[in-house]
Amino acid sequence: MSRVRHPSGRADTSLVGLAIVVPTPCPRCNGTAATLGVGRGQASIMCACGRHRGWVSHASYNFIAETVRLSGRPTEPIRIRAPARTAAALGAVAASQATAPCN
Ligand SMILES: [Zn+2]
Repeated sequence: MSRVRHPSGRADTSLVGLAIVVPTPCPRCNGTAATLGVGRGQASIMCACGRHRGWVSHASYNFIAETVRLSGRPTEPIRIRAPARTAAALGAVAASQATAPCN
């Protein structure tokens, strides 16, 4: 199920393809597994079935980017608590692994 596996060749950390978990099941496939996709200044939330699930706010994107930059890509999917539809408005992404920085 890992079709997106590009080694990061850019200086900027790319979060595209990063696994996340959304709180609400997909209306199409009823799944909660999703990945981050590209967007303008923010990341889109793409369901495993390819359905667009919403957007990650710029603040949340930066938060995830910072987490990945500091501790690498998480081995577990990042859980987003707010519904994908309102995640952009709330700007609240709960990254369980990021709540306790190593330093
Ligand atoms: Zn789906």
